[in-house]
Amino acid sequence: MAAEAASAAGGAVTVFDRMGAPARKFLMAGRGGLNLTHGEAIEALLGRYREARSRLEPAIRAFPPNALVEWCHGLGEPTFIGTSGRIFPRSMKASPLLRAWLRRLEGQGVRLQTRHDWQGWARSGALCFATPQGEREATADAVVLALGGASWPRLGGDGGWTDLLPDIEVTPMRPANCGFCVVWSQVFRSRFAGAPLKRIALDFAGRTVRGEAVVTDSGIEGGAIYALSAALRDAIAGGGPVTIGIDLRPDLSMEALARRLAAPRRGQSLGNFLRKAAGLEGVQAGLVQEALHAGADSGDLAGLIKRIPVRLESPFGIARAISTAGGVAWGEVDADFMLRRRPGLFVAGEMLDWEAPTGGYLLQACFATGRAAGLAALHHAAAA
Ligand SMILES: Cc1cc2nc3c(=O)[nH]c(=O)nc-3n(C[C@H](O)[C@H](O)[C@H](O)COP(=O)(O)OP(=O)(O)OC[C@H]3O[C@@H](n4cnc5c(N)ncnc54)[C@H](O)[C@@H]3O)c2cc1C
Repeated sequence: MAAEAASAAGGAVTVFDRMGAPARKFLMAGRGGLNLTHGEAIEALLGRYREARSRLEPAIRAFPPNALVEWCHGLGEPTFIGTSGRIFPRSMKASPLLRAWLRRLEGQGVRLQTRHDWQGWARSGALCFATPQGEREATADAVVLALGGASWPRLGGDGGWTDLLPDIEVTPMRPANCGFCVVWSQVFRSRFAGAPLKRIALDFAGRTVRGEAVVTDSGIEGGAIYALSAALRDAIAGGGPVTIGIDLRPDLSMEALARRLAAPRRGQSLGNFLRKAAGLEGVQAGLVQEALHAGADSGDLAGLIKRIPVRLESPFGIARAISTAGGVAWGEVDADFMLRRRPGLFVAGEMLDWEAPTGGYLLQACFATGRAAGLAALHHAAAA
């Protein structure tokens, strides 16, 4: 996006990427439908960026969701707003959009250099790259770094850039929109790893989120967990493991559920009883059994089903997270995302110190900061 903005305004731009093809993580986001941005009111949207709101706001207001949607339309991809307000390309894929985007960039004269692994600077000030053909250097009047966070390193961004900017303060990178480790019993794990928990509500520290989650071999992940993940991660960092409550029947009141469960059990197995009286099967019934084995009160089944306690030990590693919290500290950049200590060097995207939930907020901020940094880099270069 930085390259597009700068080249459209007359800049001569080269994009270097260490991978054999660009935008691998963008393509991966397309596997989940490519949630480009969100249709909620701008105030609500800006609030999703928490403490970083004021830093990101000018860039997002300059390239808000409707501009992003227009941009997508301009590349020949119609969009739609899902029931949750999330905005997607109608194709639900990233590849046609990316192909059209790369064609546009080529048409604007942007050169793309793949398999160029940026290694820092030569004494002369030139950028140094490791390439399959050996070392290469390149000079530029301004540089935008958009090297990403540290999640999903096999897609290119591994957070290794921190070593290349030793004089720049970086807020430690942590997993964001991530799953959490749970010590499941052997029986539960072997039966239910990979099973989806649909139409549940999760409760933590007074916040309730409806959605879905997935039980994994080593814990739990998925949309509803991601929505609470920043609070969960920070609580665990501050005081150790935390317990969330899972409501397996959020559509039923405690009273209605208790009435159903008051039916005589008449020698039925717990599994059969849960299925018939509470409509719980498979992994959901398994969670009830797991909690009972761990010592939950079998005399209050309704209370248990409305709040299965699950202890989260720690976040999954950052490599598995959807995104990264932390990054280049805000004190290091000016309002144009230029590093104060390195005039002419700009930073955009997940490299910066912000986080947001899933819902299109991640790409929205990456696009907006990329565009702002690209335009500012062009102005800097023009003034040089
Ligand atoms: C599975 C998954 C699904 C997602 N789905 C969505 C979604 O639906 N909606 C949404 O808003 N967000 C989604 N995201 C998040 C979104 O993809 C990221 O926030 C976004 O791609 C970050 O953009 P970026 O440009 O900052 O970094 P990246 O996309 O990570 O790009 C960084 C680039 O820098 C290159 N690079 C890194 N270091 C070097 C180096 N030393 N030399 C040369 N090149 C280097 C990398 O190869 C890479 O191409 C998803 C993420 C994942 C993992």
